Amino acid sequence: MYSDLDYISKWDSTPDVCSYNFSSSTTFGSLFNAAKTHAINQWSNVGISLNSLSSFDSYADIIIFGGTLDYLNNTIGLSIGDDADGITYFNVSQQYVIMYGAITKVGKVFTDTVSVFIIDNTRNCSSQNYISSTATHELGHALGWMGHAPSGNVMYAYSNSVTILQNPDKLHLYQYYH
Ligand SMILES: [Zn+2]
Repeated sequence: MYSDLDYISKWDSTPDVCSYNFSSSTTFGSLFNAAKTHAINQWSNVGISLNSLSSFDSYADIIIFGGTLDYLNNTIGLSIGDDADGITYFNVSQQYVIMYGAITKVGKVFTDTVSVFIIDNTRNCSSQNYISSTATHELGHALGWMGHAPSGNVMYAYSNSVTILQNPDKLHLYQYYH
């Protein structure tokens, strides 16, 4: 078992991915852009199909937003906790039963745009590795990771500086995508 939940989600067709940064901080802006590119490359390089758009499209399947907690909560109207470095909002429908060896899991399918938020805070701005790990982790959720992996993986439940996908990170989605 590669996650702590018994279901996985996926996209029925290759998802379009784009980003939009609400923060005016140039420091955060450059970290965010590099983190977004790193996250997209990590998942596409291990065989999870996605289509990276060169510009913002409000109809994209996955949108990676950047912004300060104050802006996201008070202007956009979200209610993100102040301990979060990133969060992913999604809707899914139940579709399939997945057999992985002797393990039965439920496969679900994303039904509309998945929104990823990367927070402009001191933790994410502390290093490129930290924010790149945050972005790769959240994009994992947007691609179907519905649980978390043990420590040492990108999909570990707590923020860290692991930026490169490990076998448990990859194998969980392989159960359903391949
Ligand atoms: Zn998570």
